[in-house]
Amino acid sequence: MRAVGYKRREESGWIKWGRELLDLIFPPAAKCAGCGRVLAPGEELLCRGCREAISLLTEPTCGRCGRPLTHPGLCAHCRKEEWAFVRAWPAAIYREPLREILHSFKYGRETRLAPFLAGLVVARLKAASGVPATPLVVPVPLDPGRLSERGFNQAELLAREVAHAFGWPLAIGLLRRTRPTRPQAELAAEERRENVAHVFQARTEAAGKVIVLIDDIFTTGATADSASAALLAAGARKVYVATVAVASSHPHPHQRGADGILAEPAV
Ligand SMILES: [Zn+2]
Ligand SMILES: [Zn+2]
Repeated sequence: MRAVGYKRREESGWIKWGRELLDLIFPPAAKCAGCGRVLAPGEELLCRGCREAISLLTEPTCGRCGRPLTHPGLCAHCRKEEWAFVRAWPAAIYREPLREILHSFKYGRETRLAPFLAGLVVARLKAASGVPATPLVVPVPLDPGRLSERGFNQAELLAREVAHAFGWPLAIGLLRRTRPTRPQAELAAEERRENVAHVFQARTEAAGKVIVLIDDIFTTGATADSASAALLAAGARKVYVATVAVASSHPHPHQRGADGILAEPAV
């Protein structure tokens, strides 16, 4: 049995080697990070169809969490919930093709997507009312273990682009995680708040500052809320949140996603 296993490994090694050699001679056509289709001439990273299919958020949205609403005001969840942040501005709804694009960005190491994804956040902030004049831009940090595993913090790449686009100051390292946490994606909504409670600590330089906190996805809001609370505890005046995506409605407390993120509930 051992010999068979060895042989099989050997063959797959040759196949892999052959494929790599072929890729060198005939480079594979660039594919869309959203749908995987071969890109047409003039298209870069994403096909036109995927760019146009992203569900961008426009008003009316909830005045606290930024989720889509049919009329101005607060969503049912935010009428009960106290958030440490003033307002969140997600740019788009977390559904295909954005879901796959964010997955490529974060887990497929497609960091070249950062300017495009940050562009969605910039457009949302430009269209929103009540955005502070010159806030300090702060990315939600990763814990050091996960950072060295992934090689980059996706929120930091986005924050750099957003700060650059507006000419706003950027503060990397203002906020840090005090302990590793389980990936939020593995947890049900009710466990997420517990998982990230008191996990962030902000430096005293946050004192007196108005901050825009940047992250890739707003699902239950537990991470954004905990990070905002740490910034306020360090003396920040106000914290706002801007993300690329948001789950279209507040996840059910027991809902757990099979693919590493909470499933998106039907609107
Ligand atoms: Zn596509
Ligand atoms: Zn809300």
